[in-house]
Amino acid sequence: MERILNYIDGKWCEPSEGKWIDNYQPATGKVYSQIPDSGADDVEKAYQAARGAFKSWAGSKSNIRFKWLLKLSQAIEKNLEAYAAAESKDNGKPVSLATAVDIPRAVSNFEFFAAAATQFASESHYTEGLGINYTTRRPIGVVGCISPWNLPLYLFSWKIAPALAAGNTVVAKPSEITPMTAYLLSKSAMEIGFPAGVLNIVHGLGARAGDAICRHPKIKAISFTGGTETGKRIVESAGTQFKKLSLELGGKNPNVIFADCDFDDMLKVTLRSSFANQGQICLCGSRILVEESIAEKFIAAFTEKVSKMKVGDPAKPETKMGAVVSKPHMEKILSYIDLAKEEGGKVKCGGHQVKLEGDLAEGYYIAPTVITGLDQTCRTNQEEIFGPVVTIDTFKTEAEAIEKANATTYGLASTIWTANLKRAHRVAGEIEAGIVWVNCWLERDLRTPFGGIKSSGVGREGGFEAMKFFTEPKNICINYES
Ligand code: NDP
Repeated sequence: MERILNYIDGKWCEPSEGKWIDNYQPATGKVYSQIPDSGADDVEKAYQAARGAFKSWAGSKSNIRFKWLLKLSQAIEKNLEAYAAAESKDNGKPVSLATAVDIPRAVSNFEFFAAAATQFASESHYTEGLGINYTTRRPIGVVGCISPWNLPLYLFSWKIAPALAAGNTVVAKPSEITPMTAYLLSKSAMEIGFPAGVLNIVHGLGARAGDAICRHPKIKAISFTGGTETGKRIVESAGTQFKKLSLELGGKNPNVIFADCDFDDMLKVTLRSSFANQGQICLCGSRILVEESIAEKFIAAFTEKVSKMKVGDPAKPETKMGAVVSKPHMEKILSYIDLAKEEGGKVKCGGHQVKLEGDLAEGYYIAPTVITGLDQTCRTNQEEIFGPVVTIDTFKTEAEAIEKANATTYGLASTIWTANLKRAHRVAGEIEAGIVWVNCWLERDLRTPFGGIKSSGVGREGGFEAMKFFTEPKNICINYES
């Protein structure tokens, strides 16, 4: 059975304590590889390697960092099919999705931040009667990057690419549930001769390896994407040491549909924004709010389409709905469907586990589920389910739509469907979320700030926001006029 290895100082290493964790294939429910159960010693080794490499990486010209990041992106692109197949096998997502979205976006992340290394600049201000203030932005040092399982390589690269572009060296931990493409990335890094120690990847459990990264006294910044509860633990372990923190956390995003929208376009995109990646994208619109006058038409059309969505083998190119990521996660989703029923919700379609045949009989499959009849205060509409489950609620007025959209502690993303330009701007301005899509969903321009408000996080990723996070500004004031 394949064993994934840590990547430290440009070499592969076994975990110091010789302990391993089983890695399951969601499509079959079977163990197919093992990963290191790394601890504080492994993190220390990775830190020492990163510290050793820092001076030369941070001091290298920006075009050198540009070239290395570009080479890394090209190495992934060259092996796109292998990366996509590995992502699908490890995560349960359809291989078509990994091929069209996950891996190409990881390639773009490295390309984008390769270019950003050469374009990032700092500010200067002429101060009347005094002289000049100028701000330098230097890399922080060794930084920690911790990513989740839902978009494994995509979100991993979203962190390590800007960290490296800005001149830091990195100790990174992918989710223990989906480690494979981070391992492939270390293979690519070795193949291209990526400078040793600049990027170090430590595999293992969040509560051990992840916690050790957060607590390490010399790792000066943590960029984390994951659940809100984990984010709180990281504030306790890292925030109390006054580390720089970027926290991209959970969501419970509203999808607000006005009667005047382009119905067909909205329906097509709402199917994706509800169920892409089995609903396991932090940006999925899990709370659909539809204007009362079209609610009946929408519910009928939507449930008809959803009930025809076929759950199947993620490895088959035609599959659009694959497996959810793990057995505990499947059980959590199913328990929320039970909760929704207890709370008075009506399951319009789905609502159950799907049993496939043969090798896939023990896989983790759930039918896409649509629930109506719940108000916004219930737990089903307040807590993140992070699976193929959406609720539909109605509103009569714009004010009520906004009130319902904002009725959770989360504030990550939102979608608005309307043909009314003034309303689109008004509602977008009032919605409590870091990201608003109007008449579209999941469109990303990598220059734009990405992140949430309220319990969805602190700080922003993307573009120069990420470059700013991964650098320390210093203002220098020169008096030459007084
Ligand atoms: P988790 O919070 O469980 O884990 C995220 C990462 O943190 C994993 O690598 C995990 O390791 C690690 N981790 C867990 N505990 C600790 C700890 N105490 N200290 C340091 N690291 C730790 O999230 P999931 O992987 O379950 O991902 C799903 C969540 O991520 C959802 O809530 C989703 O909304 C959110 N998310 C947010 C996004 C955003 O941009 N705002 C984007 C994508 C997802 P391990 O896997 O070993 O537990």
